[in-house]
Amino acid sequence: MAESLQVPLAAVEAVEALHAAVDAAVSELVARHQDRLRCGRGCSDCCLDDLTVFPVEAARIVRDHPDLLATGEPHPPGACAFLDASGACRIYESRPYVCRTQGLPLRWLDLAGEASGEWQEHRDICPLNAPGGPPVEDLPPDACWPLGPVEDRLAALQEAVDAAAGPSLRARGTRRVALRRLFRRSGA
Ligand code: SF4
Repeated sequence: MAESLQVPLAAVEAVEALHAAVDAAVSELVARHQDRLRCGRGCSDCCLDDLTVFPVEAARIVRDHPDLLATGEPHPPGACAFLDASGACRIYESRPYVCRTQGLPLRWLDLAGEASGEWQEHRDICPLNAPGGPPVEDLPPDACWPLGPVEDRLAALQEAVDAAAGPSLRARGTRRVALRRLFRRSGA
């Protein structure tokens, strides 16, 4: 699996820079919501087993954790393969974008209806972090993490990689990689 990602080093470095920018922005929101956030080492309710990422993000994990992926055992099915027995992430510094914003108040836009063409805003927060602060619906927009822009940047990075790789890769359509399949011992 790792060998087939076909992601150049420059794209991995671009993902790394994007992760750093996300972390900087997230740290400001964490400081703003520190009284309500219960996130911490060992709380792994967000670490689901079916997470998938673009190859450009998977390639950062492959670059940074060759030994773990070659010889390590994935967590048993039912939770993310990268969790250890104590509920900690074994690739914390290299974890995907989606893992870096979990727990924060989130907001995103959806089309209310194809016909109307109107956008509707949605909000959400982990139920463990809901108490201890105002309802997420009452927060100002800049107090919530906006879903969409970073996802778009990751998609653009992946599209650029696929376009440079040629028509055979583009023909496969949008590629996603299940985190569990990065382990050589995953059986995939
Ligand atoms: S990569 Fe790490 S933080 Fe993300 S879901 Fe897996 S164990 Fe949790």
